Amino acid sequence: MEREPFPLLPPDPPGRRLDPDRLDLKGMEETELAAFCGELGEPPYRGRQLFAWIYGRGECAFERMTDLSKEFRRKLSERARVGFLAPARSEEAGDGTRKYAWELAGGARVESVKIPMPRAEGPARWAFCLSTQAGCAMGCAFCLTGRMGLVRDLSAGEIAEQFLAARRGLGPEERFHNIVFMGMGEPLENFGPSAAAARILSHPRAGGVSARRLTVSTVGVASRLAEFARAVPGVGLAVSLHAADDATRGRLVPVNRKWGLDALLRACRELPLPERRRVTFEYVLLQGVNDAPGDARRLAARLRGIRCKVNLLPWNPFPGAPFERPSPERVEAFRRELVRAGLTATVRQSKGLPIRAACGQLADDERLAGRARKAPAPVSARG
Ligand code: SAH
Ligand code: SF4
Repeated sequence: MEREPFPLLPPDPPGRRLDPDRLDLKGMEETELAAFCGELGEPPYRGRQLFAWIYGRGECAFERMTDLSKEFRRKLSERARVGFLAPARSEEAGDGTRKYAWELAGGARVESVKIPMPRAEGPARWAFCLSTQAGCAMGCAFCLTGRMGLVRDLSAGEIAEQFLAARRGLGPEERFHNIVFMGMGEPLENFGPSAAAARILSHPRAGGVSARRLTVSTVGVASRLAEFARAVPGVGLAVSLHAADDATRGRLVPVNRKWGLDALLRACRELPLPERRRVTFEYVLLQGVNDAPGDARRLAARLRGIRCKVNLLPWNPFPGAPFERPSPERVEAFRRELVRAGLTATVRQSKGLPIRAACGQLADDERLAGRARKAPAPVSARG
């Protein structure tokens, strides 16, 4: 698909100027756009056209939506706008990983990451990791985002736009192969906007990816897992487990005190997944905390009977954290133990480490520095 150059002037990008009188269409789904067109006295199929322009083409300027009548474009400009983001900062690591920092309306900053996929030849294929909240309230002990606390939820438009903005920078033959909601924030704590953004980005006319290639990662809000799977049919779910017993998990993931392992794994067993879909369990490996072969055996025992695979994440460091990353040998020994017990287990490569773009390393530095000055409380894995 041919893409116009990124429009730098109108309309007002979030973070620069807000026009509260004009409705931001970015983040609205097709039925909502159709209803809005109805309010403007236009037939519902206009909603479909608008959807294709806003998401499929990534267009933000009504005047360039050339198959809409002049009169309709005039009405749209009076009442509405299409919000967009321009990166406040963008950095590339030697391995090709690119991190974007976006400034949102109100001054909050979030980050997303474009990750190269291994490919022997042909134009580049990318994975895209986006944020659903600025900061996060869940406070996991090993995660830098968690140290920020929650700044605010993102809107569906702000979530989807991270992807659309990054897509504007791709070369003509380059494509995003999959999208993961694994950046800053807990998607199930920002349920409505995260689900809407996932539906938009996996819509066939949005030019994103199919639901099969979109994965939402959750800390394990057991009470809402099934509801999310129903809200975004076919979506991939990754559940952050990190331990096979409640005592260890409770120290690492405070929310475990509310939804313990039994409740969480029951919810995973009962997920309304399409056939051949498996849940992914994520497991951050922390040296001396949860990375012993015995931990792997206990994990395998707990996961018995669940259609799943395990993705191991050797911990990505950040300053001041009381953890260490296990050696590659120890990681491999853990993986082998899971495989021996009959599980599918892979190790996630940490891409973008030098620019702090790997899992759990995303944060708004300025806000974090402010918090550290105010509250220098150490975080301890021992609770
Ligand atoms: N809040 C969601 C999604 C964002 S975090 C969740 O917790 O699942 C995405 C993944 O990165 C989670 O599995 C999380 O546990 C993991 N993660 C967080 N900090 C990490 C770190 N420092 N090193 C490796 N993985 C980390
Ligand atoms: Fe939040 Fe996920 Fe980080 Fe936990 S790991 S603090 S849930 S972003």
